[in-house]
Amino acid sequence: MATATLTDVACPFCGLGCDDLTLDVSGETLAASGGACVRAKLAFQKIASTPADAPHSWVEGKPVSLDQAMARVMDLIAPSKAPLFGGLATDVLGMRGLMELADRTGALLDHMNSEAKLRNLRSVQDAGWITTTLSEVRNRADVIVCFGTDVSARFPRFFERCVWVEEPMFLKDSEHRQVIIIGQPKDLAGATSPKGRVPEVISLSPDRLAEAAALMRGLVAGSLPPQIQTDLPLEALKSVAERLKQAHYGVIVWAAADLDWSHADLTVQALTGMVGTLNITTRCSGLPLGGSDGDFSSDAVMLWQTGYPFRTSLASGTGHYDPVMHSTQRVLHEDEADLLLWVAGLDPDRTQVPNTQSASGKHCPMIALTSAGAPLIQEAMVQITVATPAVDTHGYFFRADKIVSLPLRKAIQRSYPTVAEFAHRVMAGLGEKAC
Ligand code: SF4
Repeated sequence: MATATLTDVACPFCGLGCDDLTLDVSGETLAASGGACVRAKLAFQKIASTPADAPHSWVEGKPVSLDQAMARVMDLIAPSKAPLFGGLATDVLGMRGLMELADRTGALLDHMNSEAKLRNLRSVQDAGWITTTLSEVRNRADVIVCFGTDVSARFPRFFERCVWVEEPMFLKDSEHRQVIIIGQPKDLAGATSPKGRVPEVISLSPDRLAEAAALMRGLVAGSLPPQIQTDLPLEALKSVAERLKQAHYGVIVWAAADLDWSHADLTVQALTGMVGTLNITTRCSGLPLGGSDGDFSSDAVMLWQTGYPFRTSLASGTGHYDPVMHSTQRVLHEDEADLLLWVAGLDPDRTQVPNTQSASGKHCPMIALTSAGAPLIQEAMVQITVATPAVDTHGYFFRADKIVSLPLRKAIQRSYPTVAEFAHRVMAGLGEKAC
């Protein structure tokens, strides 16, 4: 049995894209060590522990050969007049393949994380923003405010990789950084410094965060009336505003996925407006964390190739972007798609699928492409296991700050098709040359 140890492996299971993992390969089994967090260890183990000879294609829940599954795929795709490509959890190479197929079939493209991404995008469209990179945080940030986001829960090694580092280039040490969390973190272990200094927490429930962001913006700008009445912890928030003003390089961190309330883009705008004001007298940046489920990777490919982000339809032969009308859930609810190709080809635990039943009770047929280790999707007419980048195939992954595209390496040999191979096979079946 072949054994190998791969070092400096990049991980695609959250947007941080840590690239210091060690993978011990023994035949078809994988064990992640080195810097791997629990989520990464479980994901690598789950994907790799599916035996190569286990069923990997299903039609209506019954195991079939890949050829039989592809024949059913062609029966569904060939007559489709309004296909919807959703999920889009894949890497750059997978998304390039899907874009070719979308171009050929006139599909609408929407990612599983679009709703969260739009909270940031609307804010940028309205007012722009100043953001930074993970490396800048690592080397320069002296005051870090995590707003409304349980950073460690979404990005398990954020503090280890970006805050409590041994030799920040432009700070004496990391221990003296100030970490302030506004919200309700479940676990402070990651945010606690190596010498045991726990972060300051201003505990606010999610329904108070929009108000808190607006208040902080006013405090930083000095634009509030002197006798302001609020039941928010005003003195604590004043202190945070003051420390951001005194900081050499403040950073405000959030994950839009956690700002899950109506018009949360206005909260993002309050945070980015505060950053703008702070930059009149000192230096401050936002760090909108994202990139999980390949959302930045897929979005980058869409932008290169069409000039538009997710929620773009290629039905007319050119890109038509509509962030509201082209939402997966709305399109399915209104019965505007006749086929859903759902791609969940990274984390096998990201198994939620949209409701495919329209308001009139009709079900949109679904083809699902999933990683090894993912459960059977009951609603899927066809489900095919695809190669997972960083396990069964190589690829490229954009991390949370969109600056770095990380190479993902193939670790084990199995016969699953890649997402791009699936797309090319469909195009060959449609009898047209790939674009
Ligand atoms: S923090 Fe994210 S990228 Fe890093 S090892 Fe864990 S899951 Fe992978």
